[in-house]
Amino acid sequence: MDKGILVVISGFSGAGKGTVIKKLLSESDEYCLSVSMTTRNPRPGEVDGKDYFFVTREKFEQTIAEGGLIEHAQFVGNYYGTPRAYVEQKINEGKNVILEIEIQGAMNIKKLYPESVLLFITPPTGEELERRLKGRGTETEDVIAGRLSRASEESEGIGEYDYIVVNDDLDKCVTDVMETIRSAKRKPERQMDFIEELRKGLEIYHR
Ligand code: 5GP
Repeated sequence: MDKGILVVISGFSGAGKGTVIKKLLSESDEYCLSVSMTTRNPRPGEVDGKDYFFVTREKFEQTIAEGGLIEHAQFVGNYYGTPRAYVEQKINEGKNVILEIEIQGAMNIKKLYPESVLLFITPPTGEELERRLKGRGTETEDVIAGRLSRASEESEGIGEYDYIVVNDDLDKCVTDVMETIRSAKRKPERQMDFIEELRKGLEIYHR
């Protein structure tokens, strides 16, 4: 059985990446989503163990010390990290494990797991991002301005990702993400075990 790969999905706040990931998970059982650990407080409606594992700072630092996280980062005063056990188990079961993480974590994953695939999801334009953030109707003008400013900062790092996927139409974006991951898995550097087997099988013909 083929091993799965790590798929990092990042994107500006308001890019719709959460919706894209939800649809991807509902359409294919090739994927599963890693649930992160965080020290931030749950927002209304968030469920422990589903949205995040909500823990204290002490518990988070203890988990780091035990090597229980494959990466972690600080984001606006809180810790966020990816638990190791689930990721390793699912990859061995052949699943593609999605990490929905910010750019600093994404860069750490790329260093630690060069075979991972990094996707950046973005709306087609800055105006469209503003329109979507305002359309949610849940944040003040001030918060929206802060998120747009952060998007402008984050846009400097987009060049480090492997693929950019534009989220203009949801269905098209989900199809594009799936196709991108499938072709990324076909690259020789992600097929080393297969290549090795193939070469062994061909040795008998060697003259
Ligand atoms: P939020 O507090 O809005 O849920 O998340 C804040 C940011 O932290 C988002 O950009 C989210 O993708 C990122 N994030 C969530 N989990 C992790 C994680 O395990 N590691 C890292 N590096 N970032 C994370």
